[in-house]
Amino acid sequence: MIDFNRPTYTPKAMEYIDDVINVQLMMCGDGKYTKLCNKWLKDSCKVSSVMLTTSCTHALEMTALLSGIKEGDEVIMPSYTFCSTADAFVLRGAKIVFVDIRPDTMNMDESKIEEAITPRTKAIVPVHYAGVGCEMDTIMDIAARHSLYVIEDSAQGIMASYKGKPLGSFGDFGCLSFHETKNFTMGEGGAILIRDGDNILKAEVLREKGTDRARFFRGEVDKYTWVDKGSSYLPSEMNAAYLWAQLEQARSIFDDRMRKWNLYYELLSDLKQKGCIELPFIPDYCSHNAHMFYIKTSDINERSKLISFLYSKDIHAVFHYVPLHSSPAGLKYGRMAGEDKYTTKESNRLLRLPLFHCLTLDEVEYVCDAVKEFYSRT
Ligand SMILES: *Cc1c(COP(=O)(O)O)cnc(C)c1O
Repeated sequence: MIDFNRPTYTPKAMEYIDDVINVQLMMCGDGKYTKLCNKWLKDSCKVSSVMLTTSCTHALEMTALLSGIKEGDEVIMPSYTFCSTADAFVLRGAKIVFVDIRPDTMNMDESKIEEAITPRTKAIVPVHYAGVGCEMDTIMDIAARHSLYVIEDSAQGIMASYKGKPLGSFGDFGCLSFHETKNFTMGEGGAILIRDGDNILKAEVLREKGTDRARFFRGEVDKYTWVDKGSSYLPSEMNAAYLWAQLEQARSIFDDRMRKWNLYYELLSDLKQKGCIELPFIPDYCSHNAHMFYIKTSDINERSKLISFLYSKDIHAVFHYVPLHSSPAGLKYGRMAGEDKYTTKESNRLLRLPLFHCLTLDEVEYVCDAVKEFYSRT
């Protein structure tokens, strides 16, 4: 069986976890491995501060708290995203205002944002789908003119950039995910990226149960105490050690993933030429990270048949994101601004093919052969 996903694993992981338990003798957060990860992520994302968190969902929750989102505020985001993007703000009592996507990149349609803004709007939350950047020039310009926060859901965006600038580094905040389905993983985990200095100290306190423990570790205060509202958003060192074993060889993991993505693209180009399927579109000023390889079938029926056919060949292919605006919680906590011209239609056609670290090039070829066989029979 070719699974849809298998979590990335590097052999050094066990050595580092053993180091945490038997040498460092410190398994809680913010030890040696969290610091190594934070430093690597800060250099890679080119932002003032990066802190590992227990998930991207939690990083998003932190941004909602740090930007003071409250009951009655409105937050603009695409409907085509994972529910965590919305949850973080709904938990603070905000109303979600969904906008349509562009059919080419599946990203939020930047030309639909301005008409969704009301006097209650507080933030725009672009989601960089499949590690392909949203139109950040336009989004940052709109946010500046209307004094809105920009919070990037860059869960899928690590090591990808828009016009040479890393995803997650444009807005007030960016959020990464290290869930097992992402390019680099620690099981469950994420990171918050912070652009401006005054938010850094606030985030440190919020993340560490409302204490100034981070300043204490830096020797800036001689004891730590409860200084403000907070929660616990820092992961265990064991998880950070598992992640570090991947980040220290991130380039080779990245290149390896890109080879498979490119092979998919090359082998399926024929079907694209014949008009059977569509392939991902990457604007030439975006550099992506091979997070996801998807194809688009002509409609939902064809997609269902293809999924069954692939399954009969021992290949597990999946689709995702029932548009949030039409989900039960989306109807309750949000509304669609403008027309749903592409969100439902395009999401019904999209199919993700297996792509993960230990997938082989032969397996990619096998999947492509199966897709081709399906289209030669119909
Ligand atoms: C994976 C993902 C999340 C959630 O990440 P977790 O680390 O599992 O909380 C949020 N948004 C998007 C777009 C994602 O792909």
